[in-house]
Amino acid sequence: MSDAETPPDTTPTPGEQGEDDFEPVEVFPESTEMDLRPGADNCYKCTSCDVSCPVAEVDDEFPGPKFQGPEQWRLKRKEDASVDDSIMSCSNCMRCDDACPSGVPLSQMHNTARGEYVDEDMDKLSREYIRNRILANYGTLAELGSMFPRLTNAIMGNSLVQQINEKVLGITAEREFPAFATQTFREWWNERGGPQVRSEDKRVAYFHGCYSNYNTPEVGKAMVRVFEEFGYEVVVPKQRCSGTPMFANGMLDDAKRAAGINAENFAGLIPEGYDIIASCTSCSMSLRQEYPELFDIDGLEDISEHTYEAMEYLRIHEDLDSALADASVSEQSFAYHAPCHARNQGLDRQAVELFRDLDGVTIEDVGDSCSGISGTYGWKEEKYDKSMQIGADMFDHMEHADGNVGMTECPTCSMQMEHGTGYDIKHPLQLLEEALV
Ligand code: SF4
Ligand code: SF4
Repeated sequence: MSDAETPPDTTPTPGEQGEDDFEPVEVFPESTEMDLRPGADNCYKCTSCDVSCPVAEVDDEFPGPKFQGPEQWRLKRKEDASVDDSIMSCSNCMRCDDACPSGVPLSQMHNTARGEYVDEDMDKLSREYIRNRILANYGTLAELGSMFPRLTNAIMGNSLVQQINEKVLGITAEREFPAFATQTFREWWNERGGPQVRSEDKRVAYFHGCYSNYNTPEVGKAMVRVFEEFGYEVVVPKQRCSGTPMFANGMLDDAKRAAGINAENFAGLIPEGYDIIASCTSCSMSLRQEYPELFDIDGLEDISEHTYEAMEYLRIHEDLDSALADASVSEQSFAYHAPCHARNQGLDRQAVELFRDLDGVTIEDVGDSCSGISGTYGWKEEKYDKSMQIGADMFDHMEHADGNVGMTECPTCSMQMEHGTGYDIKHPLQLLEEALV
């Protein structure tokens, strides 16, 4: 990792130590918080994490989370301190975190190891590095592309361009490029003149992330309208990517810069009574867990403690069940998939619990498998087939469910659901808007 200093030379003199002994490496000598070896010592090798790992299930060369996490951290020897390159095959789905009964900080270990591997061992001129940097910085590209959305959509939707992307960059040509909206969420927000409701005691700051801004502004609009319907003052601070695709590609310097900007723009609102709301479960995961785990920046602890997924927040603070009991929508049947990052925040059942009694709606949970795309993982040419293998259970369950419209909170799960089944996909907030606004 770029912030780490060179470990001090603690090599014992001859005779101090037997040949089979070793000194653990001081990976982060400047910070006890980032030394993950105590967490590694909590591992009692039950292998629950390995069993839960969707990548290990389809990739025989991937040694699994136990190796990537506690084994690498605990067993590093000074002369063998480099991170194994298989860390780049971890998709950062974080299912192993959820599976560990012993509180081992697996994804923190993986993210830290991946950052260290990219910093120290990856050729910065390699195709893999350039491709990963592009995918990790989707928000920057989207900002440029959405200046001329129709032109960008035509270019990126062209099959020849997709073939070139695959050959030159290693971005799969099998997937349909997500179209940019002709008006971003932020453009809509500015056009309407910002908040329409003012409140001293019901205040939220919306973290829309990249995808709701550039690709699916209808999700952001739904979020604003639903919260205003409940009397909340919604503000939309300037923001950068949550960092999720950067963590997954070991681009921790990029993620730290983005986290710093987000800290500057959001942390100061908390003492004024605002909580932070995200419509994407990977964004809320990042602000809640990954920021404080990985970065020492003023305000990130406060942000972590005050961040919520949008529907979770309403369930905590409002009587949503009663509001929905009096509502109805036109007949619709949904096949709902809980994203891995929603699962990790304990939110995997909430959409089904909320909507199952809504008049006009049938909703079915399509099981606990990973969708397989995991952000940027399924966009990599060499991972595409594995991504589809991981997603096969979900596709199968969707096709056997009554509904032929998908529902999920995660934008990339939504891409994978649509890609694997051809279904239209809705965000739960869109159904909430339809029912309540
Ligand atoms: S984060 Fe996901 S892909 Fe990575 S090791 Fe854990 S379970 Fe496997
Ligand atoms: S689930 Fe936790 S305790 Fe079990 S092997 Fe994995 S890291 Fe170790």
